[in-house]
Amino acid sequence: MDDSHLEPGAGDCADSLKELYTFLDGELTVERRTHIRQHLDGCQNCYEAFDFEAELRIVVSAKCRDEVPDELRARVADALNKLRQGDEPVL
Ligand SMILES: [Zn+2]
Repeated sequence: MDDSHLEPGAGDCADSLKELYTFLDGELTVERRTHIRQHLDGCQNCYEAFDFEAELRIVVSAKCRDEVPDELRARVADALNKLRQGDEPVL
């Protein structure tokens, strides 16, 4: 099994976003993590989503999970929804 030659595409974006959560939880295999990292390197949209989510995880893990403000949660959900819908991110 070798899918490393596959080109990143629109379907790959949706795939990568879905796996971001698993990736951040450290529950993906080395192969899947490498695949996602390679996609993030070439996809600004997904990289920004990943960066935002990763930052959130750091904040959350430094505190109690239950203390994440609803506003922050909403911002993450909104950002990911926009990416999934294919809108241009506001830079
Ligand atoms: Zn992407």
